[in-house]
Amino acid sequence: MKVAKFGGSSVASADQIKKVGAIIQSDTERKFIVVSAPGKRDAEDTKVTDLLINLGEAIELQQATDEIIDRILNRFNSIITELNLSQELLSELSNALQEIITDAHIPIGLKQEILKSFGEDSSAKVVSAYLNTIGLKARYMNPQDAGILVSDEPGNAKILNESYEKLFTLREQDGILVIPGFFGYTTEGKLITFSRGGSDITGSIVAAGVKAKLYENFTDVDSVFSVNPNIVNNPKEITTLTYREMRKLSYAGFSVFHDEALIPAFNAKIPVCIKNTNNPSARGTMIVAEKEPTKDCVVGIASDSGFASLYVSKYLMNKEIGFGRKLLQILEDEGISFEHAPSGIDDISIIIRERQLTPEKEEKILKRIKNELKADTVHLQRGLAVIMVVGEGMNSTVGVAQKATKALSEANVNIEMINQGSSEVSMMFGIHMDGLERAIRSLYATYFPA
Ligand code: ASP
Repeated sequence: MKVAKFGGSSVASADQIKKVGAIIQSDTERKFIVVSAPGKRDAEDTKVTDLLINLGEAIELQQATDEIIDRILNRFNSIITELNLSQELLSELSNALQEIITDAHIPIGLKQEILKSFGEDSSAKVVSAYLNTIGLKARYMNPQDAGILVSDEPGNAKILNESYEKLFTLREQDGILVIPGFFGYTTEGKLITFSRGGSDITGSIVAAGVKAKLYENFTDVDSVFSVNPNIVNNPKEITTLTYREMRKLSYAGFSVFHDEALIPAFNAKIPVCIKNTNNPSARGTMIVAEKEPTKDCVVGIASDSGFASLYVSKYLMNKEIGFGRKLLQILEDEGISFEHAPSGIDDISIIIRERQLTPEKEEKILKRIKNELKADTVHLQRGLAVIMVVGEGMNSTVGVAQKATKALSEANVNIEMINQGSSEVSMMFGIHMDGLERAIRSLYATYFPA
């Protein structure tokens, strides 16, 4: 059996849901369906989840909510009407929303979580009702009934291992189950959402739980591209990737698949296929545990901006026991995680996501490093971009790094830092973000010559 997850654009309108129905109909192994909330129908549109977040904020600030509620219900109204589903379903959704809003017993934080999940929850009800009208035996299943147990971290839930046993029993269920993505429940029964884009995570959890033979992730692109198509026109499509490669690519800007969603599938060794709802006959991209080595080991070039580098130098740092720990402790005290930490004998750069650094935190950190660690130099450089050149087999291929440095120098891009990940599946280059597009185009031309 297969688990098929349909993203926001796949359930954004009645026409899209009809495509989803045809896809499910065309393969009887598609027994578990996970859906997102309706996403954008066009570039100017707003995702239902964003409207729900706005609604939660408006409630907290005691602002007017009528207009937002109308917009949310109108999205479902047009879908339900165009799919010829019963108007009772719309009343059911509308009542459920009103109930969440007006229930004075729900604390505001929890209310915002429940509101956030309303898009997925309603979408699953709509899709399941529609599947029945086209002759499929489908039913909606709440994540709590499915057994998706998560940690109590609002907006950042993590799956609890005990979920998998219950999920496995879903295999016995008759017909097609439609499960809303994006949220689970704590053992106390509190609704908690995953991080944004988290329906991919639900799909992966369900696939691992029911030991599916395949997890299909339907989105709006034919495949994963080897580079950001907004930077390079018509880039090469990737047919097969390993989990490790996908992890590196999704980390640095490849938004087709949530980076946390790989873990459950990876642990259970379930292959993942990225496919296009708008072109389901396209082969898509397979993500697997192992693949045949190829001559050109680089599969993709990912990039992301918004990084800062914290540079610390101190003579004889290499001999000072505990220096690294103390340095990282200072970051930990400020609740800051780090991404990379290339180091030399007397210096170290810690790469962090800029959004974590408020000016106050920056000042405090720099001061503490200077005073407590007696560093010779400490400075923070903002506005960096990270480029990841990704591919299995890099460790045994001669000249991969040399090609990259040549491409960057030809593009007149100064390399601020280089780091070959210990996994040797990727090479990281830190550059100033002004040169990012130039750098990517030049690297792409080098690794993927026409
Ligand atoms: N609807 C949620 C979001 O927009 C989750 C998802 O679509 O995967 O983040």
